[in-house]
Parts: sequence; C-alpha cells; structure tokens
Amino acid sequence: MAADNLYAIALGSNRRSRHGSPEATVRAAAEALGVERLSPIHRTEAMGPAGRGFANAAAILDCDLDPPSLLDRLKQTERAFGRRAGRRWGPRVLDLDIILWSGGAWGGGGLVVPHPEFRRRAFVLKPLAEIAADWRDPLTGATVRQLLHRLRRPRPVDPTGPRP
Ligand code: AMP
Repeated sequence: MAADNLYAIALGSNRRSRHGSPEATVRAAAEALGVERLSPIHRTEAMGPAGRGFANAAAILDCDLDPPSLLDRLKQTERAFGRRAGRRWGPRVLDLDIILWSGGAWGGGGLVVPHPEFRRRAFVLKPLAEIAADWRDPLTGATVRQLLHRLRRPRPVDPTGPRP
C-alpha cells in the first residue's frame, strides 16, 4: 500500500459557480477533493482588475498521491468547476494550490512545494493557521503561526541603514 501523504491546500474563488457563491464554491471543492479538514472561509478584497473579493480557505488533505499527481487532480477539479485557463488575474471560479507537503520540499516539472508565494500571502497563512498552526515550513523552519506573525509585524526598516 502506498504511504499516506498529507498536504496543505489553498482554495480560492471569486465568482459564482453552479454551486452558488464563492464561499459555496470553495466548500463544494473541498468536498469534491475529500479533504480531512477545511478552515473557516475568509473574504479577501480583490487585488488587480478582477474587481471582486475572494473567498479563501485552507484544507488538509490525506491521500496516496505524490505531488505531481495531486497537482493533476487539482487542475482537473479547477476545470470541472469551470475555470478558464490563461487569465491570471481575471475572475476565477476556483483556484487550488499545493502549499505544504508532509514529504518536505518538491521541485520539478513546473511544480514547487512549498508554494513559493505562501509566506507572503495573508489570505493563505490566516486560514492555514486555523487548522495547521504548528506545521513547519521545511525551507525556513518556521511554523505557519510564526510566518503569519512575521507577516503581520514586519520588522521596521533600520533608519541608520546597513552596518558597515
Ligand atoms: P495559478 O493557477 O496561477 O495558481 O498557477 C498554476 C500553475 O502554477 C500550475 O499550472 C502549476 O504548474 C504551477 N505551480 C507551481 N507550483 C505550484 C503549487 N505549489 N501549487 C499549484 N500550482 C503550482
């Protein structure tokens, strides 16, 4: 039997789908993926020209897929929910990202885990901290809780500038 893999997944939507509101869409996607745990769903103001707020959540998924196979499954799910490819900042029915993997780091074939942007994204770290605050980022050694604190309290710039 294949060993279990544990994943932290980020889910986002900013358009109604046949499942209803962006929140209902995120909830339906979590159900379709069979996640173990779903965080509370957060509303996030839109960035860029998308024009609408996102519903964002994080989930824990326990499965026997390796990271590239899981990415394929996430893309299939995005398509099944009606996402159109190629419009990076446009309205999206569903966006699914692999954030963390119990196996540590993965790179190759266009897939990077931990997700390269997640340490700077409050809309990922906030919901993730509600379900997996103690999960450690294998690259920095920091927990999700610590990464969220760092994001909220950026270090002030040293007015004297860099030391010689
Ligand atoms: P986007 O839809 O803008 O989130 O970008 C999705 C693309 O980013 C996918 O086609 C993947 O090939 C690539 N990618 C790289 N790392 C990740 C990751 N950790 N999770 C999801 N997609 C990733």
